[in-house]
Amino acid sequence: MSDVYDIIIVGAGPGGLASGLYASRAKLKNVILEKELPGGQINKTGFIEDYPGFSSIDARELAEKMTAHAKEVGATIISTSATAVRKKGDLFEVETSEGVLTSKTIILASGGSPNYLGVKGEKEYWTKGVSYCAICDGPLPIFRNKPMIVVGGGDAALEEGMYLTKHASKVHLIHRRGEFRAAPIIQDRAHANPKMEMIMDSVVDEVGGSDLVEWAKVRNIKTNETTTIPVCGVFVYIGFKPNSDIVKDPLKKDEIGYILTNQNMETSIPGLFAIGDVRQQLTKQITNAVGDGTTAAVAAEKFIHGTLQHSQVGAGLGALR
Ligand code: NAP
Repeated sequence: MSDVYDIIIVGAGPGGLASGLYASRAKLKNVILEKELPGGQINKTGFIEDYPGFSSIDARELAEKMTAHAKEVGATIISTSATAVRKKGDLFEVETSEGVLTSKTIILASGGSPNYLGVKGEKEYWTKGVSYCAICDGPLPIFRNKPMIVVGGGDAALEEGMYLTKHASKVHLIHRRGEFRAAPIIQDRAHANPKMEMIMDSVVDEVGGSDLVEWAKVRNIKTNETTTIPVCGVFVYIGFKPNSDIVKDPLKKDEIGYILTNQNMETSIPGLFAIGDVRQQLTKQITNAVGDGTTAAVAAEKFIHGTLQHSQVGAGLGALR
């Protein structure tokens, strides 16, 4: 039994690192598995301005601080790719590129990734005007009172577009069809917003500028006419893919693949917890992930000791959406 971990944490983003911190302080035998850099998605952004205590911090510096703090209290991070999680009797097995690891509980902090447009300039201008997070980046000075583009026609594109009108001089909403997918009530609100301009049946073909984004080429797919729109921000909201396929046993998820949890971060598999962007919740913020990671580590300890009060998984979450 000595090789059995109390907790294996899959993913070293802010949520996974918070779980490692709390698990280590509780003297639980734990390990964090990460296939890329510890810090997760925050390594892919520029500055963080909405994490309490830091009015503005370089995202990588915050990732390094979180990683160092978790290690300082005893967390171990293994650089490996976890490819499958399965329940075997009372324990879990995690297949990794380094072999199979066994644990009493799992905290799945595997995150997810936004869908990308795949157009010229999108990668080059990432963090220089191209963004996948309006709440994180919208308030940045480079966007203040400037025109922006939001791409997409679902709830997220319209909601985040309306949020961005607080900061932008104008938001051009580019949607590839003639009808929005978003809920009618959200559409009504977006149409009533004087700073929103809907550009339908259109796609973004290219994003460009000098150091920062200065324009986007938008093509009407019916007329094939291309217009170059001066903008300093391009916010992409065309869906998100949670990394939940790693769990091979049947698991309660929503139609997109987000894992359903209860308030303890328990999933429908006893002993398996899900936190951060891989679980269904209202927002995808560092602060949420850290809170989830804390809850899951405390809940996992109680689960191991048989003192966790179980509540229904997935109950009430529909009301949030
Ligand atoms: P979504 O509903 O899947 O919408 C994605 C949008 O992106 C669609 O309009 C789609 O166009 C468009 N799209 C997809 N691929 C594209 C591409 N390659 N190029 C251009 N456009 C592309 O995703 P979401 O808006 O992120 O919402 C996800 C879920 O979260 C939904 O269930 C939504 O209801 C929920 N949500 C709810 C709220 C809320 O209630 N306040 C807020 C945010 C999200 P087509 O329409 O042509 O397919």
